[in-house]
Amino acid sequence: MLCEVAAHFLILYGSQRGQAQSIAEEICEQAAEYGLTADISCLSNQDKYKVESEIRPVVFVVSTTGDGDPPDTAQKFVRKIKNKSLPHDHLSHLRYALLALGDTNYANFCNGGKTIDSLLQRLGAKHFYATGHADDGTGLEVVVDPWIEGLWDALKKKLSGMSASDQTGDTRSDCTQDNNHKNASGQEKNKSDVEVDLHLLKLGEVHSQNETNVTSDSTDAETHSSTLVASLKQSVPPLSESVLKVPALPPSYLEVVLEQASTEGETVPSGKDGYREMSISKAVQLTQDDAVKSSIFLELDISEQDVAYQPGDSFDILCPNRASEVDELLLRLDLQMQRNCAVQVSLLKNSSKKAKVPLHIPQNSSLQFILTWALEIRSIPKKAFVRALADFTQSSSEKRRLLELCSKEGSADYNSFIRDTNVCLLDLLQAFPSCLPPLSLVFEHLPKLQPRAYSAASSSLQHPEKVHFVFNVVEFPACPEHPARTGLCTGWLVDHVSSILQPLGTVPASECLATSALPKVHVRPRPSSTFHLPSDPSVPVVMVGPGTGVAPFIGFLQQREKEHETNQEATFGETWLFFGCRHKDKDFIFREELERFAHNGTLSHLIVCFSRDEPDAAGTINRPTYVQHNLLLHAKNVARILLKDKGCLYVCGDAKNMAKDVNDTLLEIIGNELQLDKLDAMKIVAGLREEKRYLQDIWS
Ligand code: FAD
Repeated sequence: MLCEVAAHFLILYGSQRGQAQSIAEEICEQAAEYGLTADISCLSNQDKYKVESEIRPVVFVVSTTGDGDPPDTAQKFVRKIKNKSLPHDHLSHLRYALLALGDTNYANFCNGGKTIDSLLQRLGAKHFYATGHADDGTGLEVVVDPWIEGLWDALKKKLSGMSASDQTGDTRSDCTQDNNHKNASGQEKNKSDVEVDLHLLKLGEVHSQNETNVTSDSTDAETHSSTLVASLKQSVPPLSESVLKVPALPPSYLEVVLEQASTEGETVPSGKDGYREMSISKAVQLTQDDAVKSSIFLELDISEQDVAYQPGDSFDILCPNRASEVDELLLRLDLQMQRNCAVQVSLLKNSSKKAKVPLHIPQNSSLQFILTWALEIRSIPKKAFVRALADFTQSSSEKRRLLELCSKEGSADYNSFIRDTNVCLLDLLQAFPSCLPPLSLVFEHLPKLQPRAYSAASSSLQHPEKVHFVFNVVEFPACPEHPARTGLCTGWLVDHVSSILQPLGTVPASECLATSALPKVHVRPRPSSTFHLPSDPSVPVVMVGPGTGVAPFIGFLQQREKEHETNQEATFGETWLFFGCRHKDKDFIFREELERFAHNGTLSHLIVCFSRDEPDAAGTINRPTYVQHNLLLHAKNVARILLKDKGCLYVCGDAKNMAKDVNDTLLEIIGNELQLDKLDAMKIVAGLREEKRYLQDIWS
């Protein structure tokens, strides 16, 4: 048994897009069920915690961003514990567990968490529970759920080994041992409550909660049972007959009041969160109509903004949710008449959740505005959300299915029918018509609408007061779980610029348009700390950027071209660009500009490949299909540039396949060149990363 004062621990999270924060909050919430109490803080709030004197066990949840960096919110903490002058036993009192979040589609998997982990170890801190490495590429919950499940025993073991005085930091010994634990709201809670919370539900038990639906639902199910295949809406045995272990119902914590007010015509205020409204002065289709993917070029006019950027930097674009989806959501929530009401959000009194009113939900804005600009309504509902939705579902069979989808037993179905198919709240509400959640629940579970980043495809030396982007319009075909869709931002952008969009090959005429007639977009700079040309122009560079991955290299090369013009005395190193696309005549974007760079010597070597073109008349055998094949063909030069000439390798674009294949090819090239086995080649590549000579700007 744990006495109450011995039941405290601390949770510290470093979150970039809110995932680590929401997992940390989930741990904090669950703590009460195990008779534990947690304090929780973002790593950036350094006045709220002090690891130097922390005697409670600490649970870190840390995500990874950029090129394997800790999230921005953890940077200060990392700098602090990285200080080389700290003694090796500086944190020897600290006992901690760490959950690192990452994505194996990117190099440096979970590196944000791993960095903090190794720094803590270096200062003498000790694990009380093994570090978890969760992979967003396969689904964070695959690791997160069992890791949290095991955490409770580890915490209890750790805490029971610590005396009450250890815990409080003083010598009081007035803790009374008690079989009951208090939950976060101070209510008495005992072990049997905890078991009840696990909701060991049987099919019959769930059905019995709604007698009227039982007959029709079960008859329906029986009629089709011989031909049933699992889908979002229905399960098949054994899941449909299983006793379910479902997560505890997350406590609600928000109160939402809608007031009649005049809120029509609201827009995102310029300057908010660093966004400025800019005009899109040009939009050009870069690909043929029959290309597999449609690439669009945008030019933004930044003349009226105080914005500086370097090639290699990106910009965040704020895009709204689709008006049709917001309308449908309002309709499904039975709130279409209240769309213009002003929304007040406050904390629910007596909620057991330690939470704050989410800052990303603006007060007094209209409901429509919030659903359009503040919440990621396309986000994939987490299991906790699915669990909560089940409690607002009338039909017993629908409720049972929702409970299955969030249950331990239904994990595979959750992955197949929700996570892998990118189902969103609206899809769930369409599939489960008797589900009618209150607005407060929707606000509690939908994350903040995230901006989308786009790499600058220009140099301000060549295009003063302008910044260029290029993007592919993301398309998701229809599937049983949802209709066909375009990506949120790319689909919006292409509609947004339709009035000025020029077809491929036309002479841009947008200069004729008055600025007021140009489409506007909210943009903020997102500078890169490393993805820039070397400051010494004599350093040779190899750039690998198929498809829209070529974007930053267009900026690099424009910059180099200008530097060549203005500084003819300078020595310039070799520049290699490996580009690839499907068809030479359909989607070879920036072809003329790249050929100009090659022609005037800005680019020493332009190496291209076309993955879907038929072999030429000569029927070249083994012609290179992808950029990595061309890298192999030029292995000697690549190896020389990196190993002898101290050059830099830049890779930009698709994280899922290309970046991994290029990395494998690099290992092969280095292994062959230096006659090393894979492990030793990996060490060399790690060294190149460390020296910032192998840099990636990749996205999925
Ligand atoms: P979203 O709606 O956000 O969808 C994106 C992803 O979600 C898909 O790839 C898919 O994995 C998943 N998804 C969502 N819904 C479904 C569904 N129904 N079915 C299947 N999968 C689904 N992109 C460029 O084109 N050009 C650039 O220069 C560029 N630079 C970038 C720079 C940085 C630093 C970063 C981080 C990213 C960059 N990106 C770039 C990627 C860009 O930010 C966006 O992710 C991309 O344009 C897609 O945005 P979206 O809103 O249209 O798609």
